[in-house]
Amino acid sequence: MKRIVIKVGSAVLREDNLLAVRRLNNLVDLIARLKNEKKLEVILVSSGAVSAGNTIINLDKKKVLNRQALAAIGQPLLMKHYKKRFRDHGLKCAQMLLVAEDFDSRKRSANAKGIMEILLSNNIVPILNENDVIANEELLFGDNDQLAAHAAYYFGADLLAILSDVDGLYDSNPHENPNAKMRHLVTSLEPEELEMKHTPNSEFATGGIVTKLKAANFLLKRNKMMYLSSGFDLTNACDFLVHGNHKNGTLFKK
Ligand code: GLU
Repeated sequence: MKRIVIKVGSAVLREDNLLAVRRLNNLVDLIARLKNEKKLEVILVSSGAVSAGNTIINLDKKKVLNRQALAAIGQPLLMKHYKKRFRDHGLKCAQMLLVAEDFDSRKRSANAKGIMEILLSNNIVPILNENDVIANEELLFGDNDQLAAHAAYYFGADLLAILSDVDGLYDSNPHENPNAKMRHLVTSLEPEELEMKHTPNSEFATGGIVTKLKAANFLLKRNKMMYLSSGFDLTNACDFLVHGNHKNGTLFKK
């Protein structure tokens, strides 16, 4: 592997109504290891702007415009923490805010790709998020799982790792069935699995397991891999990504 995309969700970056700085730092530490020890190029897709904004000001999150305003408030706060921790590792980061249309348009995606190559070749960690402020219905990815899948494909990554409040795909709902078993390897997905209801576990997340499966399906169809694992505890992700040891978490691979 040469280039990977790591996506972290809003639920992971929030704890007790505050930005979960300890988890954010652990994530940056993992990325630094991947860059320094494994010599990987890492692109980070980070949610959490709305949730970070909400730690500064309380607006009614049911209103779309309020959520967009919260994203505008929260995005620089997120970046401040990323920048600080990356600096502790002697690394620099950059922000790229994208909307779905950027990947639909050949001109815009070529532009974004050109910028991505400059950042990566200068050892900078690009941090992507949806451009929530201008993302209206037509422009919206809706969730960063799709943004991350598109980024992985269009920016030529070998793998997308989603670090989430869902630690893998189970053979039945683990919230309802205590005997549910994790599926370690998934080679294809059934249409029914992609049509299930969206079930975000956190009030700030727009995803849930279905959006992860859609992202996996998008990549499987294009012969790319996706790995889904816990973002709360990075032990499994570290085993897999740093040591090549797949102990837990789900790998989607043809
Ligand atoms: N872009 C939104 C944020 O940063 C999150 C989208 C999602 O839940 O995936 O807050």
